[in-house]
Amino acid sequence: MSNSSLRIHQNVQLTHHPRRRTLGPEPIPGGSVTQTRPRLSSRLRTEIPGPASRALQQRRAGAVAAGLSSVLPAYITSASGGLLTDADGNTLIDLGSGIAVTNVGHSAPAVVDRVRKQACWFTHTCFMVTPYEGYVEVCEQLNDLTPGDHEKRSVLLNSGAEAVENAVKIARAATGRQAIVVLDHAYHGRTNLTMALTAKSVPYKHGFGPFAPEIYRVPGSYPYRDGLSGEQAAAAAIDRVDKQIGADQVAAVVVEPIQGEGGFVDPAPGFLPALAAWCRDNGIVFVADEVQTGFCRTGDWFASDHEGVVPDLVATAKGIAAGLPLAAVTGRAELLDAVPPGGLGGTYGGNPVACAAALGAIETMRQENLTRAARGIADVVLPRLRDLATRTGVIGDVRGRGAMLAAEFVRPGTTEPDPDITKRVAAACHAAGVVVLTCGTYGNVVRLLPPLSLSHDLLDEGLSVLEDAVVEAAR
Ligand SMILES: *Cc1c(COP(=O)(O)O)cnc(C)c1O
Repeated sequence: MSNSSLRIHQNVQLTHHPRRRTLGPEPIPGGSVTQTRPRLSSRLRTEIPGPASRALQQRRAGAVAAGLSSVLPAYITSASGGLLTDADGNTLIDLGSGIAVTNVGHSAPAVVDRVRKQACWFTHTCFMVTPYEGYVEVCEQLNDLTPGDHEKRSVLLNSGAEAVENAVKIARAATGRQAIVVLDHAYHGRTNLTMALTAKSVPYKHGFGPFAPEIYRVPGSYPYRDGLSGEQAAAAAIDRVDKQIGADQVAAVVVEPIQGEGGFVDPAPGFLPALAAWCRDNGIVFVADEVQTGFCRTGDWFASDHEGVVPDLVATAKGIAAGLPLAAVTGRAELLDAVPPGGLGGTYGGNPVACAAALGAIETMRQENLTRAARGIADVVLPRLRDLATRTGVIGDVRGRGAMLAAEFVRPGTTEPDPDITKRVAAACHAAGVVVLTCGTYGNVVRLLPPLSLSHDLLDEGLSVLEDAVVEAAR
């Protein structure tokens, strides 16, 4: 048992059983409470969150800023594959992957092994001071894996927001232009520039202005709500840019190939290729924000691959290193190399331990053929979600690709968003020990982002819980 989990258990016992001094599974602190409730699953020993997690949550309130919220405040002590174990000994099925990060599963052996070795060798030098091979190797892998076989370069950073910011810096430096075009429902991060690129006000932007200038928002493609073909939606976006900005002013168009936080909005076929072609014709840098969609998540290495779109720059993070902080911008050599030496960088960007994790994660994706695994997940999930939509009438749209799948909840017979039922469905899943996330501009989308290596037994178990939750909430 690690020191930290020991400390957690001792804390709980001091709170609940001041005279009990030995550690052990029985009696469960607060166990008498759970005995009066129906047992939801053999994976659960207490209600969720259990007494140990609730004690930690109380402690947290006195220490951690209130501006951070947790979807499911069960405090995790270990995780493996697609299962999370919490401080009360409950085992949760993970259909969220820490927001599309642990694509290779928790504690994937190749990641753990490389991280452990690298941590022993050295943990930091700063690549801008004295470099090391792992950074170069990650860049080589990214140049190889991202769409297109042109000459590429990469720069490594710490977070998705930082990657998007750097893509904008590179595009502006390379084109000498300033305007940046983004879409309705976009999410690009929480730094000042990426807040400006992000569409939704509460909770991401409200009260945090003023925002960076020269950001322009145009309609995207949301087939369920706009009813347009991809070509029509692209024409509308392009017309807006032509009339309100002027193509020759635009440095970059930044798009998520499937929108993440905005609601897993999968654009109509033809939208991305039309936008990319127009960018090419007008000297505009087409930036794909693949932070959430990248690394096999959607059944391809990158979601842009699906329609053969070759972005000029690709921003990546989340799935890149199985949870160690790492991000990247990869793209055309002439764009990356347009920034003079010293113009890009950061103290921690491309940290050697994070690079080791990335190499382990990429190795696992290749060896376990996780693009195929992601498509296998879609084959299981989509028919069941569609059946659930027909049976209950509360799901207006089922969409997504690979292991990036969603159900959009509406009032029956309408397209009116229903955030309340969405919350109740998520809460019921959480109570039953299944981690699902919600998203969407209207807060009415349940999204599924399981680890790509999740066994179909666990997937099936998690889906059954979700189905029960929807049926119950629709009553
Ligand atoms: C999560 C996310 C970001 C921001 O990434 P951070 O690592 O949280 O800064 C940017 N773009 C997309 C599409 C994301 O999903």
